[in-house]
Amino acid sequence: MEYGIVGLIVFALVGLLVKKRTKKRNQRNKKDYQNWNIELLNALEWKRFEEVIARYYELIGYRSEVTRMGADGGVDVVLYQQGVQTPAIIIQCKSWSNKVGVKAIRELYGVMAGEGIEYGVFATTSGYTQEAIDWADGKRLQLMNGDDFITAFNQLPEDQKIQLLQFATSGEYTTPSCPSCDTKMIQRTATKGKSAGSVFWGCTNYPRCKQTFKMT
Ligand SMILES: [Zn+2]
Repeated sequence: MEYGIVGLIVFALVGLLVKKRTKKRNQRNKKDYQNWNIELLNALEWKRFEEVIARYYELIGYRSEVTRMGADGGVDVVLYQQGVQTPAIIIQCKSWSNKVGVKAIRELYGVMAGEGIEYGVFATTSGYTQEAIDWADGKRLQLMNGDDFITAFNQLPEDQKIQLLQFATSGEYTTPSCPSCDTKMIQRTATKGKSAGSVFWGCTNYPRCKQTFKMT
């Protein structure tokens, strides 16, 4: 009888411990962010990054249009002041780990001139080469890096900050989209060549679409 009670208590304690651990794990998995940080920004796939940038500028009062799909090249987001038909700002987004060089900045400036748009923003999760920073100096160009966006996002009013966080992390937000097909890519393993065995992102429409991304 006494043995039975001790057993019951031990059982209950173990049960409580397991329950507590499970709860902790679930909380971690939920990724309920309260603030923006660089890890989260870096984890966003390129398209979600672009959408978050567009949403941010909407929150601070612009109307936005995502103009072109593509992980590289072209202007990605165009901003309008409310009630105005001509674009106020063009934004080129690049969510990659390399520093952005002067060539990409020149291209953005070229598009601004061509389209007659006064102001350009380059948006990246990483940073810029010194050459790019020097070249942009004195021009109507703003070079925004990951830290700049973290600061800007966290300075939004609390409800807007949370809204942007929820928008960024809703659904599958880390798997890259195929720029050609607008579908989520899948993990593939190279079977031949010198990179055989390496894992990469491939399009679900392969072999019709041969778009790939390196796994970061
Ligand atoms: Zn594709």
